[in-house]
Order: sequence, then C-alpha cells, then structure tokens
Amino acid sequence: LQQLYAPLDRLGTLYRQLNANATDAEKLFNLLGQEVEITDAPDSEPLVVTDGVIEFDNVCFSYDGEVQALKDVSFRIGKGESMALVGESGSGKSTILRLLYRFYDIDSGTIKIDGQDISKVTQKSLRQAIGIVPQDSVLWNDTIGANISYGKEDGAEDEEIIAAAQAAKLHDRILTFPEEYDTVVGERGVRLSGGEKQRVSLARMFLKSPAILVLDEATSALDTETEREIQRSLAELAANRSSLSIAHRLSTIINSDQIVVMKNGAVIEQGTYHDLIERGGQFAAMWRKQIFTEEEMMAETEALGPG
Ligand code: ADP
Ligand code: MG
Repeated sequence: LQQLYAPLDRLGTLYRQLNANATDAEKLFNLLGQEVEITDAPDSEPLVVTDGVIEFDNVCFSYDGEVQALKDVSFRIGKGESMALVGESGSGKSTILRLLYRFYDIDSGTIKIDGQDISKVTQKSLRQAIGIVPQDSVLWNDTIGANISYGKEDGAEDEEIIAAAQAAKLHDRILTFPEEYDTVVGERGVRLSGGEKQRVSLARMFLKSPAILVLDEATSALDTETEREIQRSLAELAANRSSLSIAHRLSTIINSDQIVVMKNGAVIEQGTYHDLIERGGQFAAMWRKQIFTEEEMMAETEALGPG
C-alpha cells in the first residue's frame, strides 16, 4: 500500500506546488515530467524582429518518435501578412503554432523569423515577440487584472489593462465583479466561462501588442455578436503585424493574405481564397460544405423565432 500511496502523495504535492506558484505553461510542462526540455543554445542571441517574416522550411516533427505530426511543411508569411491555417481536426494546425512558439524542437527543417533560426535565439526573446491565444486558455489564481497583465514583461499601467479589456469586450463584465479588476479569478475565486477565459487571453494579446500574432481558434467560444466586435479590434491589431491563425469559421478567413490547407500533417493546398476557390480542390469543397452548414444553422435559428 505504501508503494501505491507514495506516488499519489507526490502528485498531490506537485499539484499544490502548481497551484501555489505556477507562473507559466512551461513550468507546468516540467512539473508533469514531460521529457521534452527546450533549452537555449549555448551561443544563443536574442531574436531581433525587424519585419516579422516567418518561414517554415521543410519542417518535420513527431511528438512520440513514431507518428509524423508534420511532414515537410513549408510556407512563408511576409511582412505584415496574415496566414490562415485550415484543415480537419488532427491535421497538424495547432502543432504548427506550438512549434513557432518553440514548445518543442523540430526533427528536421528550419523555422526562421526574420532570417534567424528560432532554435538558436533565446527562448525569452522569442516568446516576447509572439503573442499567443491558445485553444484552451489558462488562468492563474490571481486577480483578473494580474491575469490580463501576465505576459507583459515590464508591467502595465491600470489604463492599459482597462483598454486591453475593452478591446477584448471584457471590461463591462469585470465591472460586475465584487472588486472589479482586483477580483481573484480561477479555482479560488470567480469562475469564468470558456468564452470569458478566451477573452482574458485576447486581452493579454491586446496588452502585449506583440510583433507576431498567433491565434488558435481564438474566438471559438464566443457568441457571434461578441466575436464580430472582437474581430474588428483584432483586425486593427493585426494591420501591420504578421499573423498566423486557425479559424474555426471559414467566413473569417476570406481576407487572409494566404490560406494553408493541412491534411494528415502535410500542406495540401496553399493560396489566396480566390486561388483556392478557382482551383476547385479540397478547400473549395470544404468551403461549399461549410457555407451550406452555416446557412442551415441560420435557417434553424430563424425557424425557432426570437427569444
Ligand atoms: P489540429 O490542431 O489540426 O486539430 P494537432 O496539431 O493538435 O491538430 O494534432 C496533430 C496530430 O498530432 C494529431 O494526430 C494529434 O493526435 C497529435 N498530437 C497533438 N498533440 C499531441 C501531443 N501533445 N502528444 C502526442 N500527439 C499529439
Ligand atoms: Mg488544434
């Protein structure tokens, strides 16, 4: 029995440690004993972002050394350009974003930002340059204000935090909390819904205002109206920056400078919306299907009537 309890107890301790002082996702990775450990190269220099040009060149990657999650993935996002990743679930979209943030090292190929190999720059500088809104947002057991300013290295003024919350359509909600911006959220405080957590991540992004924007289905948990409003602020933020996003709704990617279509870890089509529709391939087929589904859903909503 002792043998059984010892590891359980260790887990309990780890869990308490996590709750007490987890400050970032990497710490979480390490505590859970993931063997992947990303370290700075001995001669690493800080990344210098000039134009925010992102290049994937024949990138291959496997999580477990067996299944190839990415196979020879190549693309280039030019200065200020936006790229949208589409493809069925499990096709490798989130993996691409994680690799750009260097959560894992790749098996072969190169990933460069402004000509600098990301495995050769300091992780700190890399992660400062990139703002990421992940698929599942994580909150710390801290105030909502601190949660929003998390990720901004040099701290933030109250006005900046409020402006970020406004851009993410979260400000009005925060004003309903007992201590407004000083209200503790998370497990030990006010519980936030999935959509609210997602808006905290978006507020972090607005505050950090990074050179490169990375969005993983960043508005998937929001209602259509809120999504539309946030899309406007996001479009403003993205105007002069490079961005890489996974959109859950095809209608939000029409205006991307480039669309990359993934299947089974490989790029199967690449081009603008018009290129891909004209080609009449997989994207065009997905598009027809999605439009059909959206129209169907609209019809259903209308049939149900108001209220
Ligand atoms: P998408 O975002 O397009 O749905 P992912 O990039 O998350 O797809 O996943 C690509 C492939 O990698 C899938 O086969 C998935 O099961 C696998 N995968 C994703 N995350 C992990 C992980 N942490 N460990 C092992 N395999 C993973
Ligand atoms: Mg994903």
